[in-house]
Amino acid sequence: MSAAASTIYIPDKGSASQVLIVKQPCRAARTPISYFEQPFFAILHRRMHAFIDHHLHTSRCGHAEGRPEDYARAAEEKGLAGIGFSDHFPLLHMRDATLTMGIEELPSYVREVRELGDAFPGLCVRLGIEVDYLPETVDRLAEHLGAHPFDYVMGSVHFIDGWGFDDPRNLPGYEGRDLFYLWERYFELLGDAAESGLFDLLAHPDLIKKFGFRPRSDVTPLYERCLDRVAAAGVAVEVSTAGLRKPVGEIYPGEDFLRMCLERGIRVALGSDAHSPDEVGYRFHEALELLRRVGYQETVAFESREGFMVPL
Ligand code: ZN
Ligand code: FE
Ligand code: FE
Ligand code: ZN
Repeated sequence: MSAAASTIYIPDKGSASQVLIVKQPCRAARTPISYFEQPFFAILHRRMHAFIDHHLHTSRCGHAEGRPEDYARAAEEKGLAGIGFSDHFPLLHMRDATLTMGIEELPSYVREVRELGDAFPGLCVRLGIEVDYLPETVDRLAEHLGAHPFDYVMGSVHFIDGWGFDDPRNLPGYEGRDLFYLWERYFELLGDAAESGLFDLLAHPDLIKKFGFRPRSDVTPLYERCLDRVAAAGVAVEVSTAGLRKPVGEIYPGEDFLRMCLERGIRVALGSDAHSPDEVGYRFHEALELLRRVGYQETVAFESREGFMVPL
């Protein structure tokens, strides 16, 4: 291992240290000193230290607040190992400044995140992007995404047949729509996204439950069909605590879905979908509890479009 490799140490119960090797060349080597200097933090808080929050939005997208440095400071305070920015990639089928940055802003976004990494050497700072999967724009995405040095590309389904189903402004649109159709179409699109080859990670994988509207019939076959495709494509899924802040009041994905992921060997990455700095690492201990209960033993983190495993 080269000298550039980073190691993250987690003090465990005050005695033996558990050592996690986080793939080089992460610039964020936190030294053991910084932890041992703070002997009084809570166990759960301490347990968060090895984890990276992959899903953060900045004011650039027009509906989140906070500059990248505010997020970095918040992450340091919470003792996270790192943060990955995943601002919304421009929608190619329409321009809406309240949803995403403009395409001309991508170079400055990339530069800003890279510079932040230099300014916070004690933190892993990763460059991600959250990209909407739409069948009508998928062919144009590849060239754009290939043009920037992302650590990971996260695919999201926020639109069904052009309708933004998770936007609170579109809530009246649920009236008169068939819920089973929406769920079926959502998980079909998610499977399409996995197979597109564009994404490392699928964001908030059961987002369709956001407002708590669920079809009466069993959705298990929809999950199974979708996750077979996700597993075959080798794409990871996000375990997102954002759902805890939404009407549905539960983590994305739900426990049943997550068990089906584990059965298929699908890797999971952590995210808060923070839209303000105070939401960094939001209720991560609950995500960790859920993962352990289901039987996951590790999470995945991304760098240079490659995943590496972090023990739970
Ligand atoms: Zn957003
Ligand atoms: Fe999203
Ligand atoms: Fe997001
Ligand atoms: Zn998101």
